[in-house]
Amino acid sequence: MECRINNFLFLRMKEAGFHTISSIIMTTKKNLLAVKGLSEAKVDKVRECAYKISNSSFISGLEVRERRKNLIHITTGSSALDELLGGGIETSSITEVFGEFRSGKTQLAHTLCVTAQLPKSVNGAEGRVAYIDTENCFRPERIVEIAERFELDPEEVLDNILVARAYTSEHQRQILQIELLVHIAAKMVEETFGLLIVDSATALFRVDYSGRGELSERQQKLNRFMSQLLKLSEQFNLAVFITNQVMSTPDGSAGMFVVDPKKPVGGHVIAHASTTRIMLRKGRGEQRVAKIYDSPMLAENEATFEVSSGGVIDAKD
Ligand code: ATP
Ligand code: MG
Repeated sequence: MECRINNFLFLRMKEAGFHTISSIIMTTKKNLLAVKGLSEAKVDKVRECAYKISNSSFISGLEVRERRKNLIHITTGSSALDELLGGGIETSSITEVFGEFRSGKTQLAHTLCVTAQLPKSVNGAEGRVAYIDTENCFRPERIVEIAERFELDPEEVLDNILVARAYTSEHQRQILQIELLVHIAAKMVEETFGLLIVDSATALFRVDYSGRGELSERQQKLNRFMSQLLKLSEQFNLAVFITNQVMSTPDGSAGMFVVDPKKPVGGHVIAHASTTRIMLRKGRGEQRVAKIYDSPMLAENEATFEVSSGGVIDAKD
């Protein structure tokens, strides 16, 4: 079988966000049928060719180990936290941090925006960063301070971060589906991106689907969002870093809502989609404590770090 498609179709597929063979394998037939100009027969052929080119879905455990050597661990700025995470925030997977307000989620995200750009020899990813900001918390001033700590040119560091401010959960999904998966994915084929941040992944979904009876729709939409994030991370060897909030539950005796710092929102959807889950809590002064909440390979240990003007650092005592 000859695996050739004409230029017209090639462009159409690129326009629809299919830039790589794996992007075809990772999507459903239904999504391919939505590409203008692709008939059912063509879709079948494109899929057959993509499977053929990629050989087999099965690879040996040795090869999995070999491929995992390409993964990068991006430093968090604290060696204790890096050690807890097996070297840092891993590419090709989703790392979630959750914790109550001020627990350091956004500060960690800002630190990673800078460290992802460091050379690989010092635990960076030598890549650009995309940041979906749902809470208007991205602060270039913080990036400048953190860049100075790592002796990087702040202007260059800022130039390498693409920030999208999302206003509703629909908008957040659009940013991922249209801008990231189509336009930025085209750039990712040529330029290296190391990190994608969504701060916060769940907040807008909570606002937009807060009514009774809307939970299942919220979870369905969130599930789609998370599964697209995971595909993007695997396709481009990106570290995806998401922040999440914790539940507040009604406290009968106090007559108000109280935060439960151990209960992340998003239920089983976030639980299944996140590869590594980290729980953050406040410690003494500027100290924060991170605990592995769920991971396929890390033990449930804890690490203490601090938030400083230069971002996340090791705790001083
Ligand atoms: P939320 O749930 O509200 O988004 P968060 O977990 O994202 O909370 P962060 O914004 O990461 O919280 O943490 C805010 C805290 O970080 C501040 O209260 C302060 O303790 C610390 N912080 C922020 N900026 C600085 C700075 N320039 N120097 C030192 N510490 C700072
Ligand atoms: Mg925050």
